[in-house]
Amino acid sequence: MSGKLYLVATPIGNLEDITLRALRILKEVDYIVAEDTRQTLKLLNHFEIVKPMISYHRHSTEEREEQIIDKLKQGKNIALVSDAGTPAISDPGEQIVKNALKENIEIIPIPGPCALIAALIASGIDTKEFTFLGFLPLNKKSRKEKLIEIEHSTKTTILYEAPHKLITTLNDLKQVTNKRKIVLAKEITKIHETYFSGTAEELLEVIKEPKGEFVIIIDKNILDEEQNLENMSLEEHYKFYEKLGYEKKEIIKQIAKDKKVKKDEIYKKFL
Ligand code: SAM
Repeated sequence: MSGKLYLVATPIGNLEDITLRALRILKEVDYIVAEDTRQTLKLLNHFEIVKPMISYHRHSTEEREEQIIDKLKQGKNIALVSDAGTPAISDPGEQIVKNALKENIEIIPIPGPCALIAALIASGIDTKEFTFLGFLPLNKKSRKEKLIEIEHSTKTTILYEAPHKLITTLNDLKQVTNKRKIVLAKEITKIHETYFSGTAEELLEVIKEPKGEFVIIIDKNILDEEQNLENMSLEEHYKFYEKLGYEKKEIIKQIAKDKKVKKDEIYKKFL
């Protein structure tokens, strides 16, 4: 009989956040598959757990994935952990889960800390509906597409970001979110845990040299929720962007983009 694959969430800063079940599973399994074995060793040492570890990270080979699946097929129970938080959320794990399911291996999540959920519930921003986009892509075209998605999103958007890229990302968000509220959740569960709230522009005035880990929570676009750009008359469309504080030139450019026509066409209509 095959073994079980446990996806074990681990603390994102405060070791007290490990669950009793996570500790039991880590003690009981045959192997721990870890994103960073040195990091996981610190956790295991703290809780006096001694267990053989297998390294598995984003650059691991297919061969390593096969080794893990083979061990499960041989009846070994495995716990998969990432550096911190919930495995397979902007972390390795997803592929192993897919491969294991193909082999009818039982997958058991052991829920616990997850930065996006902790940040969202503390943000004061709508939790009913949200979109998690992970890290924004670095590729220019894909990044622009995601930013447009955020611009028109009628749901809360959640992003992860590395500290050295935070200012660039806030500058990009400034272009598409205007006066919408953004919350930056910094170092959740750690000593320097702080929540910053404001528009992208306001946040850029406060955060000059970001250090630590950040989750970005962006409020929905209420105007988009209320109005459907495609069905608007030209005048309504103009007023919509005027309300957002856009200049005439920008408004015309934006309308042309929304209506997928050339800028000149819109110019002529306004003349
Ligand atoms: N799997 C993890 C989870 O469950 O949240 C996420 C891993 S992802 C590689 C790392 C990103 O998560 C960081 O760049 C940051 O955006 C966010 N993050 C992780 N821990 C955090 C913390 N303590 N405070 C704020 N953000 C955190």
